[in-house]
Amino acid sequence: MKRKINFNAGPATLPEPVLQELAKATLQYGKTGTSVLELQHRGSAFGEILEECNALVHELCGIGPEYEVIWLHGGGRLQFCMIPMNFLPEGKVAAYIDSGQWAHEAMQYAAYYGDTKIVASSRESGYAHLPQWPARLPAKAAYLHLTTNNTIYGTQWHDIPACSKPLIADMSSDILSRRHDHSRYAMFYAAAQKNLGVPGVALAVVHKDMLRKAARPLPPMLSYKAQAAERSVVNTANVPGIYTALLMLRWTKQRGIAAIEKENTAKAELLYGQLDKSRIFVPRVSEKAHRSQMNVCFTTNDMAHEQPFLDMCARHNIIGIKGHRYTGGFRVSMYNAVSLADVAALVDVMREFEDLSPS
Ligand code: PLP
Repeated sequence: MKRKINFNAGPATLPEPVLQELAKATLQYGKTGTSVLELQHRGSAFGEILEECNALVHELCGIGPEYEVIWLHGGGRLQFCMIPMNFLPEGKVAAYIDSGQWAHEAMQYAAYYGDTKIVASSRESGYAHLPQWPARLPAKAAYLHLTTNNTIYGTQWHDIPACSKPLIADMSSDILSRRHDHSRYAMFYAAAQKNLGVPGVALAVVHKDMLRKAARPLPPMLSYKAQAAERSVVNTANVPGIYTALLMLRWTKQRGIAAIEKENTAKAELLYGQLDKSRIFVPRVSEKAHRSQMNVCFTTNDMAHEQPFLDMCARHNIIGIKGHRYTGGFRVSMYNAVSLADVAALVDVMREFEDLSPS
């Protein structure tokens, strides 16, 4: 059966060469005589997978040995917990930029462990734009948490102003999608199911300075320091998930971040261009500088268009464009594995839909 053009927000579409490698490795991983699903987490084959993953993260993010690369269970939300557990000591406050639902949840999770403060928010306006960057941070701030791309609402920080406190970023939905100065961060992390593979795995990249500041005693599973010391194998690691991340990292390197960025920009220009001139479709984010290149959200000028448009997309083999349940409308997620041709196919359907709709 033909593969769908899949614009889901995550789990997201994966590149075909990655799927092919994964299929091969599922039957037989290298010369091990076992499947990658059966590979031992403390064996040498997985040790090599981890080493290559970590080297590729350093290389693709342009960061030095002062950063630890850690692979963890629990996706994005477990990072929402581990960050305050590890970095929010008593007497300090955790500052959060509230630019979307994930940013808000990250703050809510942190509140279980200590004092939090929202230092900028666009919640009142339904997160339709980015909030103003905070002019100052509380003197007691242990860190500032930022979500670089707001997956549900379709906004993205393209320029990140200077920050006087350790900056921690959730890059779940835009990691490795553009050239970016990662050395600005005390820590950045990403749930893998968008640009890094499959659900359940999270990548955390932590500056070694942060590991010296343990906020409280923690069991090794929840401690970045212990996870780094144990090279991400405190317990039985998610071997197939981390191997998939390796395949994604290799594929990303082969394409090159600059080329990926160029295609992501072209995809965004094509789709926003169509939305901006449409008489039916309405982009959710009007401020062009705030628009996400990864998740493009839009509605229609009449709800009655929604189901017929979805049906037309389905007839053209296109899936995954229904908006998040919090926003309704449509969301087109264009992570690295989505090609310009995929977006062009969608834009053709949008044009056809407009042509067939009475004015
Ligand atoms: N952060 C961002 C920016 C996300 O887009 C998501 C999920 O889509 C999450 C966190 C939560 O990830 P998980 O479902 O793996 O907990």
